[in-house]
Amino acid sequence: MEAWFTASLTQIEKPSDELRVMHFAVSGGEHIHYVPGQFVKIEMNDGEPFQRSYSIATMSDTGNFADGLEIAVSWVDDGRASECLFSMECGTSVDVYGPFGQLLLPDPNNMPKRLWLVGTGTGVAPYKSMVPELKQILATGEVDIRFVVGARDRIGVLYPSLWQGLSEQFPQFDVSLCFSQTMPEALQGGEVMGRVQAVINDTSLNPDTDLFYLCGNPDMVDDVFSLLKDRGFAVKSVRREKYVYAIRR
Ligand SMILES: Cc1cc2nc3c(=O)[nH]c(=O)nc-3n(C[C@H](O)[C@H](O)[C@H](O)COP(=O)(O)OP(=O)(O)OC[C@H]3O[C@@H](n4cnc5c(N)ncnc54)[C@H](O)[C@@H]3O)c2cc1C
Repeated sequence: MEAWFTASLTQIEKPSDELRVMHFAVSGGEHIHYVPGQFVKIEMNDGEPFQRSYSIATMSDTGNFADGLEIAVSWVDDGRASECLFSMECGTSVDVYGPFGQLLLPDPNNMPKRLWLVGTGTGVAPYKSMVPELKQILATGEVDIRFVVGARDRIGVLYPSLWQGLSEQFPQFDVSLCFSQTMPEALQGGEVMGRVQAVINDTSLNPDTDLFYLCGNPDMVDDVFSLLKDRGFAVKSVRREKYVYAIRR
C-alpha cells in the first residue's frame, strides 16, 4: 500500500559525472513495504514543490525500508529534479510517496524457462532490488536469465561488479553490456558495440518460453516491444517500465 514517508539523505555515490546513487535513511522504514521492481515519487522544491519518479534500487531481503531507500539518478540537462538531486547534501530530508508499479517478478510457481531483464542507463535500478529473488530463481537451476544493459559507454553501466559477481556465481546469468556511443579500447566478455536491440533480436527468441522485462528510456522500451510483437510475443510476455519525462510545471 502506498504511503507518504520522510527520507533523509545519508550517502551519495558518484559512479560518473552524470550518475548519482543516493542512499536515504527512512525512519520507521521497517513498516513501509515494497516489492522489488517498484518505484517511488520524490517531492522536491526549487521554489515550488514538484515530484519525480525513481525506481527503488534498495537490495534487501526484508522487502521494507528498514535498511533505507536507494535510488540511482541520471543527469538531464536543464532538469528540475536533476538540479535538486545533484546538488543535494547529506542530511537533507525529502518527502517520498509510494511505492508504485507493476514491474514485478513472476510467481515462483509460474517461472518462464528464460527471463530477459533489459535496462538502459538507470533502468537497471529495479533489477538491483530484485537481486535477492533472482539468486533464489537462479539457484533452482531451472531458469536462464539474459541480462542486457544499454549505456553510452562503459562508465555509464551502473553496478557493474554486482552483475559480474552474479554471472560468476551463476553460469546461467548471462550479461550483455551494449555501448551505444563510445567503444572501449578492447571489449571484454559480454561487451558489445551497439544498442540492446541487436542482442535481443536473437534467433533463439521463443514467445512460449521467454518472459521480457524492459525498463528505462521510453524509445528503447517502445522499440523493443515492437520488435518482440513482430517476433510473436504477447503483451503479457513483455513487462515494461518507461522512464517517461514529467510534464514540466
Ligand atoms: C516510473 C518511472 C521511474 C523512473 N525511474 C527513474 C530512475 O530510477 N532514475 C532516473 O534517473 N530517472 C527515473 N525516471 C525519470 C525521472 O522521473 C525524471 O523524469 C528524470 O530524473 C528527469 O527529471 P528532471 O526534473 O531532471 O527533468 P525535467 O525538468 O522533467 O526535464 C527537463 C527537460 O529534459 C527532457 N528530459 C527529461 N528526462 C529526459 C531524459 N531522460 N532524456 C532526455 N531528455 C529528458 C524534458 O522533456 C525536458 O525538456 C523515472 C520515471 C518514471 C516515470
